[in-house]
Amino acid sequence: MTEKTKRRCSFCGRTENEAGMLISGMSGYICTSCVEQAHEILREENLLEKSDFELKELPKPKEIKAFLDNYVIGQDEAKRVLSVSVYNHYKRLMQHDSGDEVEIEKSNIIMVGSTGTGKTLLARTIARLLKVPFTIVDATVLTEAGYVGEDIESLLTRLLQAADYDVEAAERGIVFIDEIDKIARKGDNPSITRDVSGEGVQQGLLKLLEGSIVNVPPQGGRKHPEQKMIPVNTRNILFICGGAFDGIERKIAQRLNTHVVGYNSVQNNQNVDKDNIMKYVLPQDLRSFGLIPEIVGRLPILTFLKPLDRAALRNILTEPKNSIVKQYIKLMEMDGIELVFDDDALEYVVDKALEYKLGARGLRSIVESVMMDKMYEMPSMDEKCCRITKEYASEQFAKCNPSDFQN
Ligand code: ADP
Repeated sequence: MTEKTKRRCSFCGRTENEAGMLISGMSGYICTSCVEQAHEILREENLLEKSDFELKELPKPKEIKAFLDNYVIGQDEAKRVLSVSVYNHYKRLMQHDSGDEVEIEKSNIIMVGSTGTGKTLLARTIARLLKVPFTIVDATVLTEAGYVGEDIESLLTRLLQAADYDVEAAERGIVFIDEIDKIARKGDNPSITRDVSGEGVQQGLLKLLEGSIVNVPPQGGRKHPEQKMIPVNTRNILFICGGAFDGIERKIAQRLNTHVVGYNSVQNNQNVDKDNIMKYVLPQDLRSFGLIPEIVGRLPILTFLKPLDRAALRNILTEPKNSIVKQYIKLMEMDGIELVFDDDALEYVVDKALEYKLGARGLRSIVESVMMDKMYEMPSMDEKCCRITKEYASEQFAKCNPSDFQN
């Protein structure tokens, strides 16, 4: 008998050959699947140490907003709405444990705004502040698989992974579902059933948004043949959805016009801020865009993000705590090099981002292309100062392939 066939798990009796890894104790062994089962029993019996939030530790809405201000430029309206809803969400979680009669309903959030305006950044920053597991899922991936089942659950697999398989932590986490608009039903007519893929995914998502116990395949990590599904309760998971909803402004404008009839129509029409139609977005606009009413109903907090103007883009380059420019300065500093950007060089970067309609997303790639040669050469040079002028920036940018910067 080899060592591997001799050693057995003292709980299930399987040999090391059968069970995989065995952990040895003073006078016996335990296999990983028995460890998992024991953990599950403790969890079911509520004997695991709880890491519940304390209300006094929970940052107040104003504190959440102030934290967001450090990282996200502008978008004040969205920040306020998010701060309040996130605060309420976690208050609701604490109330749950107290057995109070007034049950606060869960409020998932939907953010509407063009791509690169900071939707993901907002969600990510909030998760960072609250130190809860966070994951981003692209709704389009869910469509591609064609069928609902497993794929929708894989969204929770990612959350579990982000929580290091701590189910309880995952059950308090935040899931950001990006590009939710891409699973909208195409066409306004709900009776047309030819394009049901988007609607199918929406139906699948509904179950998660509502709050239910979902069996999640733990996937990834080490493969145990005996790996069993992990039940995850989505009741306290906060879902934040984001989407560009291209063309929704037209629907909002239409609604504003059709609704503004009657004796005060002229006055109302004049009050409409035509440059910022998005701020009038209502749940019914999401429905006419193609989200099913049930999904819209499960995303009761609706907010919008403004397109980033020139001033906002300029601020994004330098103002956030970990702004792009600060990051490059840090990188150079690590080689003992002082990096300085001329103001007009930064203006040039903003010009190019606007010209190529890249928004904030393009700022980084433009700065990267401007900095590439310096980053390559400077660490081997004696020179300890690096100044980026507008001329240098435009020279470097001109060397790039413009197709790298097409949206
Ligand atoms: P979205 O999710 O709206 O498409 P992201 O949040 O992913 O956009 O933004 C893309 C990148 O652009 C971010 O990593 C961030 O660097 C930058 N960015 C976008 N909007 C802002 C903003 N309002 N403030 C600071 N940075 C921003």
